[in-house]
Amino acid sequence: MTIRPVTILGEPVLHRRADEVLAFDQDLKDLVADMYQTMDAAHGVGLAAPQIGVGLRIFTYQLENDDDVPARGVLINPTLTVGKISGNPPSVDDEVEGCLSVPGIDFPLKRAEWVRVRGFDVDGNALDFEATGWFARCMQHEFDHLDGKLYVDRLNARYSKKSKRAAKNNGWGVPGLTWMPGVDPDPFGH
Ligand SMILES: [Zn+2]
Repeated sequence: MTIRPVTILGEPVLHRRADEVLAFDQDLKDLVADMYQTMDAAHGVGLAAPQIGVGLRIFTYQLENDDDVPARGVLINPTLTVGKISGNPPSVDDEVEGCLSVPGIDFPLKRAEWVRVRGFDVDGNALDFEATGWFARCMQHEFDHLDGKLYVDRLNARYSKKSKRAAKNNGWGVPGLTWMPGVDPDPFGH
Protein backbone atom coordinates (compact mmCIF):
# COMPACT_ATOMS: atom_id res chain seq x y z
CA MET A 1 0.00 0.00 0.00
CA THR A 2 1.16 3.49 -0.84
CA ILE A 3 0.07 6.95 0.10
CA ARG A 4 -0.43 8.83 -3.17
CA PRO A 5 -0.15 12.58 -3.84
CA VAL A 6 -3.52 14.36 -3.87
CA THR A 7 -4.33 16.28 -7.05
CA ILE A 8 -5.31 19.95 -6.81
CA LEU A 9 -7.90 22.04 -8.69
CA GLY A 10 -6.69 22.45 -12.28
CA GLU A 11 -5.38 18.90 -12.74
CA PRO A 12 -7.29 17.72 -15.84
CA VAL A 13 -8.33 14.34 -14.34
CA LEU A 14 -10.37 16.25 -11.72
CA HIS A 15 -12.35 18.03 -14.40
CA ARG A 16 -13.45 15.26 -16.74
CA ARG A 17 -15.82 12.32 -16.42
CA ALA A 18 -14.05 9.27 -14.99
CA ASP A 19 -14.29 5.90 -16.75
CA GLU A 20 -16.20 2.83 -15.58
CA VAL A 21 -14.23 0.11 -13.80
CA LEU A 22 -14.28 -2.94 -16.09
CA ALA A 23 -12.39 -5.59 -14.10
CA PHE A 24 -12.75 -6.50 -10.42
CA ASP A 25 -9.19 -7.81 -10.21
CA GLN A 26 -6.08 -7.54 -8.04
CA ASP A 27 -5.11 -4.22 -9.63
CA LEU A 28 -8.44 -2.80 -8.45
CA LYS A 29 -7.88 -4.14 -4.92
CA ASP A 30 -4.40 -2.58 -4.84
CA LEU A 31 -5.76 0.75 -6.06
CA VAL A 32 -8.55 0.77 -3.46
CA ALA A 33 -6.03 -0.09 -0.70
CA ASP A 34 -3.95 2.93 -1.76
CA MET A 35 -7.09 5.09 -1.74
CA TYR A 36 -7.96 4.06 1.83
CA GLN A 37 -4.41 4.73 2.97
CA THR A 38 -4.28 8.11 1.24
CA MET A 39 -7.71 9.10 2.60
CA ASP A 40 -6.63 8.20 6.14
CA ALA A 41 -3.30 10.01 5.87
CA ALA A 42 -5.12 13.08 4.54
CA HIS A 43 -7.75 12.85 7.34
CA GLY A 44 -10.47 12.89 4.67
CA VAL A 45 -14.05 11.65 5.03
CA GLY A 46 -13.94 10.64 1.39
CA LEU A 47 -11.58 10.26 -1.52
CA ALA A 48 -12.36 9.76 -5.20
CA ALA A 49 -9.91 8.06 -7.57
CA PRO A 50 -9.37 11.23 -9.67
CA GLN A 51 -7.98 12.82 -6.50
CA ILE A 52 -4.99 10.49 -6.76
CA GLY A 53 -4.79 11.05 -10.50
CA VAL A 54 -6.73 7.95 -11.57
CA GLY A 55 -9.70 8.58 -13.89
CA LEU A 56 -11.87 5.69 -12.70
CA ARG A 57 -15.34 5.64 -11.11
CA ILE A 58 -14.31 4.72 -7.56
CA PHE A 59 -14.56 6.49 -4.22
CA THR A 60 -13.84 5.53 -0.63
CA TYR A 61 -15.42 7.08 2.46
CA GLN A 62 -14.95 7.07 6.22
CA LEU A 63 -17.92 8.59 8.01
CA GLU A 64 -20.12 7.49 10.90
CA ASN A 65 -23.76 7.72 9.85
CA ASP A 66 -27.32 7.19 11.07
CA ASP A 67 -28.21 5.04 8.09
CA ASP A 68 -26.99 1.59 9.26
CA VAL A 69 -24.30 1.68 6.59
CA PRO A 70 -20.73 0.64 7.51
CA ALA A 71 -18.71 3.74 8.50
CA ARG A 72 -15.98 2.79 6.03
CA GLY A 73 -16.43 1.62 2.50
CA VAL A 74 -15.82 1.87 -1.21
CA LEU A 75 -18.24 2.46 -4.09
CA ILE A 76 -17.32 1.32 -7.58
CA ASN A 77 -19.31 2.43 -10.65
CA PRO A 78 -21.90 4.07 -8.39
CA THR A 79 -25.19 5.65 -9.37
CA LEU A 80 -26.94 8.25 -7.23
CA THR A 81 -30.59 9.19 -6.85
CA VAL A 82 -30.60 12.66 -5.29
CA GLY A 83 -33.42 14.15 -3.22
CA LYS A 84 -34.67 17.69 -3.53
CA ILE A 85 -32.16 20.45 -2.82
CA SER A 86 -33.59 23.37 -0.86
CA GLY A 87 -33.53 26.75 -2.57
CA ASN A 88 -32.63 28.50 0.69
CA PRO A 89 -29.18 30.02 1.11
CA PRO A 90 -26.69 27.59 2.70
CA SER A 91 -25.98 27.93 6.41
CA VAL A 92 -22.53 29.27 7.27
CA ASP A 93 -22.70 27.25 10.51
CA ASP A 94 -24.01 23.85 9.46
CA GLU A 95 -23.51 23.48 5.70
CA VAL A 96 -19.86 24.22 5.08
CA GLU A 97 -18.05 21.86 2.74
CA GLY A 98 -14.38 21.30 1.94
CA CYS A 99 -12.35 19.13 -0.43
CA LEU A 100 -8.86 17.63 -0.28
CA SER A 101 -8.34 18.85 -3.87
CA VAL A 102 -9.14 22.44 -2.87
CA PRO A 103 -6.92 22.30 0.20
CA GLY A 104 -7.36 24.52 3.21
CA ILE A 105 -10.52 26.39 2.27
CA ASP A 106 -14.23 25.67 2.65
CA PHE A 107 -17.51 27.23 1.62
CA PRO A 108 -21.21 26.86 2.44
CA LEU A 109 -23.18 24.78 -0.04
CA LYS A 110 -26.73 23.39 -0.10
CA ARG A 111 -27.00 19.66 -0.71
CA ALA A 112 -29.87 17.19 -0.77
CA GLU A 113 -30.61 15.72 2.67
CA TRP A 114 -31.24 12.30 1.16
CA VAL A 115 -29.71 10.14 -1.54
CA ARG A 116 -29.94 6.53 -2.63
CA VAL A 117 -26.63 4.97 -3.59
CA ARG A 118 -26.14 1.91 -5.74
CA GLY A 119 -22.83 0.44 -6.85
CA PHE A 120 -20.37 -2.35 -6.21
CA ASP A 121 -17.76 -3.19 -3.61
CA VAL A 122 -14.20 -4.20 -4.45
CA ASP A 123 -15.24 -7.84 -4.99
CA GLY A 124 -18.05 -6.90 -7.37
CA ASN A 125 -20.88 -7.42 -4.87
CA ALA A 126 -23.86 -5.11 -5.38
CA LEU A 127 -24.40 -2.32 -2.82
CA ASP A 128 -27.66 -0.44 -2.38
CA PHE A 129 -28.39 1.92 0.50
CA GLU A 130 -29.94 5.23 1.47
CA ALA A 131 -27.93 8.02 3.07
CA THR A 132 -29.08 11.08 4.99
CA GLY A 133 -27.59 14.27 6.42
CA TRP A 134 -23.81 14.57 6.35
CA PHE A 135 -23.46 11.07 4.95
CA ALA A 136 -25.71 12.08 2.05
CA ARG A 137 -23.54 15.17 1.55
CA CYS A 138 -20.41 13.02 1.48
CA MET A 139 -21.96 10.73 -1.13
CA GLN A 140 -22.95 13.68 -3.34
CA HIS A 141 -19.51 15.27 -3.02
CA GLU A 142 -17.61 12.10 -3.89
CA PHE A 143 -19.98 11.14 -6.69
CA ASP A 144 -19.52 14.58 -8.25
CA HIS A 145 -15.77 13.91 -8.47
CA LEU A 146 -16.51 10.99 -10.80
CA ASP A 147 -18.32 13.35 -13.17
CA GLY A 148 -15.48 15.86 -13.14
CA LYS A 149 -17.25 18.25 -10.82
CA LEU A 150 -15.85 19.85 -7.66
CA TYR A 151 -17.99 21.35 -4.91
CA VAL A 152 -16.63 24.79 -5.81
CA ASP A 153 -18.33 24.37 -9.22
CA ARG A 154 -21.67 24.28 -7.38
CA LEU A 155 -21.28 27.33 -5.13
CA ASN A 156 -23.69 30.25 -5.35
CA ALA A 157 -22.51 33.46 -7.01
CA ARG A 158 -21.23 35.00 -3.80
CA TYR A 159 -19.11 32.04 -2.69
CA SER A 160 -18.06 31.15 -6.24
CA LYS A 161 -16.45 34.57 -6.54
CA LYS A 162 -14.60 34.05 -3.24
CA SER A 163 -13.45 30.59 -4.23
CA LYS A 164 -12.13 31.78 -7.60
CA ARG A 165 -10.17 34.50 -5.84
CA ALA A 166 -8.75 31.97 -3.35
CA ALA A 167 -7.76 29.64 -6.21
CA LYS A 168 -6.01 32.48 -8.00
CA ASN A 169 -4.18 33.58 -4.85
CA ASN A 170 -2.97 29.99 -4.34
CA GLY A 171 -1.83 29.61 -7.94
CA TRP A 172 -4.29 26.77 -8.59
CA GLY A 173 -6.18 26.06 -11.78
CA VAL A 174 -3.18 24.73 -13.69
CA PRO A 175 -2.16 21.09 -14.32
CA GLY A 176 0.41 19.25 -12.23
CA LEU A 177 -0.24 20.52 -8.71
CA THR A 178 -0.46 18.03 -5.84
CA TRP A 179 0.09 17.84 -2.10
CA MET A 180 1.41 14.89 -0.12
CA PRO A 181 -0.58 13.65 2.91
CA GLY A 182 1.64 12.94 5.89
CA VAL A 183 4.47 15.03 4.41
CA ASP A 184 3.05 18.45 3.60
CA PRO A 185 1.30 20.30 6.45
CA ASP A 186 -2.30 19.13 6.83
CA PRO A 187 -4.29 21.73 4.85
CA PHE A 188 -7.28 21.53 7.17
CA GLY A 189 -5.20 21.46 10.36
CA HIS A 190 -6.21 17.95 11.45
ZN1 LIG B 1 -13.52 16.44 -2.86
